Amino acid sequence: MYEKSKQLFTRAQESIPGGVNSPVRAFKSVGGTPLFIEKAKGAYLYDVDGNKYVDYIASWGPMILGHAYEPVVKAIQEKALYSTSYGAPTELEIQMAELIRSMAPNVDLIRMVSSGTEACMSALRLARGYTGKNKFIKFEGCYHGHADAFLVKAGSGLATLNIQTVPGITAGVANDTLTCAYNNLAAVQQLVKENKNEIAAIIVEPVAGNMGCILPQPGYMEGLRNICDAENIVLIFDEVMTGFRLSPGGAQECLHINADLVTYGKVIGGGMPVGAFGGKKGIMEHIAPLGNVYQAGTLSGNPIAMIAGYTMLTELKNNPSIYKELEEKTHYLQEGLDNVFKASGTPYTINRLGSMISVHFSGQAVTDFATAASANNELFKKYFHAMLQRGVYLPPSAFESWFLNNALTKDDLDFTIRATEESLKEILQ
Ligand SMILES: *Cc1c(COP(=O)(O)O)cnc(C)c1O
Repeated sequence: MYEKSKQLFTRAQESIPGGVNSPVRAFKSVGGTPLFIEKAKGAYLYDVDGNKYVDYIASWGPMILGHAYEPVVKAIQEKALYSTSYGAPTELEIQMAELIRSMAPNVDLIRMVSSGTEACMSALRLARGYTGKNKFIKFEGCYHGHADAFLVKAGSGLATLNIQTVPGITAGVANDTLTCAYNNLAAVQQLVKENKNEIAAIIVEPVAGNMGCILPQPGYMEGLRNICDAENIVLIFDEVMTGFRLSPGGAQECLHINADLVTYGKVIGGGMPVGAFGGKKGIMEHIAPLGNVYQAGTLSGNPIAMIAGYTMLTELKNNPSIYKELEEKTHYLQEGLDNVFKASGTPYTINRLGSMISVHFSGQAVTDFATAASANNELFKKYFHAMLQRGVYLPPSAFESWFLNNALTKDDLDFTIRATEESLKEILQ
């Protein structure tokens, strides 16, 4: 069933570390051979062995309207004829910035970069430059890309591979990274008290997606906002996952909270390598060439990347019913999964907001990294493979959110629910 993928994986390991260009793709935590993909269209992935899968990764979020979405593909094709990069400004970059500002709350100025990692790294540098302070708080299990400062208790692929400390991150860097549990406001207050006038920023996934999907508890984000206001700390919302996915205005709009700086990635590039950070004018003005906080990129604002993102965001802005449809589809999936899990008798928790959803094999509420990590990972592995065999491609880790795309039909969702029912029968017997 996976012969060609197996051959390619063996060959890949000769030239690429671990055979992949990003760790979670290697299937290490679930075991088995990663599937090599030939193509994708709409809600479906096709591997090199000719197997077809209903896709719940959506390239980890960007393909919110399904794969090979025609307006995006067409826009890229047309733009490529005009050269793929200039290294000089274009009107398209202004249009992109204006479009983002018209959708995202609290974004006066926005700078484009090429990945979510770059966006978060730059936002943190800016917060430090702006406040003149060095330390910052991040939450256990939140992932903000692979910049040194963030690779402390970082969820996502690190949690998947059980990496606790990352060699190559100096003690000096790690010492400025303060961490505490997600959804625990008292712990934040304690850290702020112990590090009075030393904290530049609090960075948070407003809805966490890198330890499965974890919702902020009522009052938590408001509490962070209040602490930041009182202590002159920059509140950074990492909306790399949630931006343009939960709503046109992302989590800021859904949760009714104003961040000082926001970072974007994933959906914003329509499947091309794009990230962005933006926010209040008074802070963003400190970025070079206006200010002295240096930040740059040879391919930042690349025309092909911009036209892909611009076309995708335009679709999302012009058709807000997409969010309602995604919400309904994900709710339908949640109810169906709920029924078959309940009937199976195995302990489980399903978390969901909008089109982000995750299943944890745990009877306990999953509200932070500790509760996510205490779920039954062995069972998740079996579930993952049983689903894969039945043609459903879930994220190959219990520490990742599933992302629905709007090309999914009710038949696809019913197929997924039935596959879950069969899979649970198989793995629980
Ligand atoms: C994916 C992700 C990042 C990193 O983005 P890359 O484009 O992979 O560098 C940062 N923050 C969050 C919340 C993410 O989900």
